[in-house]
Amino acid sequence: MNDGKTLLAWWNDPVDYAWLVDTLAARSALGPLRLLVGLAGLSIAVMGAVIAGTPIGPAHPVVTSTVGVGAGLLWALRWWLLPWPGSTESLVLIGIADVLFTVEFLQVPDRLFGAMGAVLLVVTGSYLGFFHSARALAVHTAWSLLSVIVFSVRIATGGHDVRLALAVGLLLIAAVVSVLPALQILYWLLRTESLSDPLTELLNRRGLEIRLPRLMRGYPAVCVIAFDIDRFKEVNDTWGHRVGDTVLVSTARRLHEAAGTPAVVARTGGEEFVVAVPLGAVAARAEAERLCRAVAEPGSTEVEVTASVGVAVFDTAACPDCPRPTPERLLHAADAAMYRAKQAGGNHVVVDELTLPPEHRH
Ligand code: GH3
Ligand code: MG
Ligand code: MG
Repeated sequence: MNDGKTLLAWWNDPVDYAWLVDTLAARSALGPLRLLVGLAGLSIAVMGAVIAGTPIGPAHPVVTSTVGVGAGLLWALRWWLLPWPGSTESLVLIGIADVLFTVEFLQVPDRLFGAMGAVLLVVTGSYLGFFHSARALAVHTAWSLLSVIVFSVRIATGGHDVRLALAVGLLLIAAVVSVLPALQILYWLLRTESLSDPLTELLNRRGLEIRLPRLMRGYPAVCVIAFDIDRFKEVNDTWGHRVGDTVLVSTARRLHEAAGTPAVVARTGGEEFVVAVPLGAVAARAEAERLCRAVAEPGSTEVEVTASVGVAVFDTAACPDCPRPTPERLLHAADAAMYRAKQAGGNHVVVDELTLPPEHRH
């Protein structure tokens, strides 16, 4: 991937919030994380209480301090007592915190101390960078930049040297505005890398396990097609492992190009691939046969391969009463069908009849 493509992919990635939360939960990391996020709210509440009514505290202590301390306490209680928030609630909570940080610190009389409030935006920004999309972080970053500018102008108009205002502003831009998008890109790259196969650049099995459920949530019908290259060991034995690798790469490219968007294409094992497409019971077989032909098509090299292909279908429109299969069940059914295609001699498509609505079975 070139630089532009990488950045565009990062910018467009919607980020599977539910998957991130589930992954952390599976590793028992959500509990400690909830504790820490709540603790941040508590420490801000305590800080607000310490300065309330003192010369350092806000000019209108009754309103401003009550809002600040109350919000910090509510934040802590919310994170400690309730389950991890859904995606929308998570965004709303961070949005409220962002606005409160800036508005509250604009009320403190010491304008230099006030500007320090911008540092709190790093806390919310770090959370956003981890759990939410590039676009969500961009909105936060724009708010952070605006806040830093306002804090700096407030220093300059408060009797301080303009150069001090500029210095504080630039210092805060370095800390609050520039770091988090860079960190998010790096973190996103590593996460994406861990979900893709280095040889073919397709998704790997773990990537498929994330993208297939997303596809099934987004479409009323999905067909899962499993491929296993026939007698691939012979390709390695005859032509060498390196040529075998080239064949895997070209097979991956053929499947990727033939399947198009919004198909999910993965290399799930050595010479095994899975394609998931949003097609129902009627179109599934024809699509699998088309992809099977795409794999077998003669190419630019002497080495030609074929694949055994198994298909499993999930189609709510064709069968509203059929139980909704899990992604694992669908993958398993496609795999079992693929083995039957292999037993039939290979270069052949078998559709798992049990995943089809009754009127489509033979
Ligand atoms: P079948 O027709 O029953 O599918 O036979 P097969 O030879 O394709 O299947 P088998 O599972 O016996 O062998 C798969 C081979 O794929 C064995 C292994 O050397 C090869 N393989 C697995 N990963 C790679 C890889 O990354 N590169 C290359 N070149 N070969 C690989
Ligand atoms: Mg195999
Ligand atoms: Mg094979």
